[in-house]
Amino acid sequence: MDYPEIAKPEPGRMKVRPNLDAPALSSGFDWQQIENELRDKTGEINLPYLAIDRHATSPRRDKPALIWEGRNGKSECYSFGDLALASNRFANVLSGFGIKKGDRVFTFLERVPELYAVVFGTLKLGAIIGPLFADFGPEPVRDRLRDAGARVLVTSPTLKAHIADILAELPELEHIIIVDRSRQYARGEKEILFHQAMDSASPDFTGSYPGADDYAIMHYTSGTTGKPKGAVHIHRAAIQHYATGKWVLDFHENDIYWCTADPGWVTGTSYGMFAPWTNGITQVVYEGGFRASAWYSIIEKYRVTVWYTAPTAIRMLMKAGEVAAAHHDLGSLRHICSVGEPLNPEAVMWGLKVFQQPIHDNWWQTETGAILIANYAFMPVRPGSMGRPIPGVRAAILGDDYTEVPPGTEGHLAIRPGWPSMFQTYWHSPDLYQSRFKNGWYITGDRARTDGDGYFWFVGRTDDVINTAGHLVGPFEVESALIEHPAVAEAGVIGKPDPIAMEVVKAFVSLKEGYQPTPELRRELVNLTRRKLAAAVAPREIEFLPSLPKTRSGKIMRRLLKAKELGLPLGDTSTLEEF
Ligand code: AMP
Repeated sequence: MDYPEIAKPEPGRMKVRPNLDAPALSSGFDWQQIENELRDKTGEINLPYLAIDRHATSPRRDKPALIWEGRNGKSECYSFGDLALASNRFANVLSGFGIKKGDRVFTFLERVPELYAVVFGTLKLGAIIGPLFADFGPEPVRDRLRDAGARVLVTSPTLKAHIADILAELPELEHIIIVDRSRQYARGEKEILFHQAMDSASPDFTGSYPGADDYAIMHYTSGTTGKPKGAVHIHRAAIQHYATGKWVLDFHENDIYWCTADPGWVTGTSYGMFAPWTNGITQVVYEGGFRASAWYSIIEKYRVTVWYTAPTAIRMLMKAGEVAAAHHDLGSLRHICSVGEPLNPEAVMWGLKVFQQPIHDNWWQTETGAILIANYAFMPVRPGSMGRPIPGVRAAILGDDYTEVPPGTEGHLAIRPGWPSMFQTYWHSPDLYQSRFKNGWYITGDRARTDGDGYFWFVGRTDDVINTAGHLVGPFEVESALIEHPAVAEAGVIGKPDPIAMEVVKAFVSLKEGYQPTPELRRELVNLTRRKLAAAVAPREIEFLPSLPKTRSGKIMRRLLKAKELGLPLGDTSTLEEF
């Protein structure tokens, strides 16, 4: 079914005038304009100065930057001035350990206020911050810390206990800083208590800020083959965080903003820290997980005006029903955006009914560092479309020869390099980085098409990476965990379509001689992957097969497993060994 375009309200009936308008979207634009707008007399272009410190020396000093609500319902509030001092202290803690520019500092923390002091303190020092998702099991943590050669890990007592076994495998890890909110934790060897270290550190930071082109942050992202790779971003990205905060999230000075993404993923840093704070906006962070009533309560209690969330969450809210929403006053909401997976038109229409406004889909990925394609507050929304490229970014659809194809034709979604938040490398994998550029374009790995009016429409991915609830899962990681079980001979992992999470992880497994495909074994394998990797990554389904389809060179053909699952034609099987 085709959905009609959703017109914008008349300008006089909008709560605020959108920051971006049609002439600005279409006219010539140079990123230097934004850089000039941000550059004050200090000349600093770096994340901690632009997001925190410049506000701390301005009338925004006492403005709430972070309103945090814990799982227990208690809230805490931190101004820009508070965050400036806390991040100064943490920079001094690190420098007391001899940590210097370019060193890697990782967090494996719940969404607690200390996380923000750690991120900005690390950035101030010019060290590289690597935030990890708190639901990870020991193996993803070990792989990432080892690959990055992390010198410092900041974690909590509970999460430290989850990964205790892998710490001995990380010879480069010198310091473990424990954030113990309960103040009950008995410090172990090599460990430092965050609160003690912060109390004895100076609140003045006398070092110099990193430069615009220094490395700032790395996020690991999954590919089809091999372990996840660390996409590295520089401080200059702040320019685009700031600009897209204005244009796409449509920030206005008195907004209360809520980004539901976890800082272990790029949305949770670019839009859960950098975009709101470079714009001097107050944001809410909720420590708890998803529950429809809890989420609606956050919007109601803090009078959230701008909300950035994800399609799976919206579909879960749809499932909870309109009645759940009707119990709350959600009238503060002015602008809603979504990212991470395709936003189905039904969800956009549901937003119109329940929030009296469309949900604005936008597109970007870890490597792009910030939003590149979006539906804007000023522009009519075409349900199902990701919108149009932001000013200063050229996106195109390319054929297999990497030249542009006409509107309506599906192809590779590609971006002309040079946007400010572009990733600079994959850590230790420069060749892989180079392979992402073809014929003068960055190839995103997504397939899409445009319509005649320049709106982009997502089609799918070009690789086997699975998108489950907005989390990218590399099949290789799951397969590697499964074949560590003594019963498993081979494993092939695919994404199976799912009405809520877009895809769920499904594994096909063949067993070694002497093992039987029992329900107990299936449970054991699911538990194994949950424990080692993460609950979100563990297969939702496991199917036992006598053998898996392989090429003559022995590579498992996930494409055929997927075709079988979906009941589709098997396509070219000429390179197949057996099935
Ligand atoms: P990540 O690097 O984990 O942020 O994931 C990025 C990937 O998520 C993209 O390459 C897409 O495959 C998918 N994605 C992100 N936003 C959208 C969107 N608005 N519509 C469709 N897919 C999206």
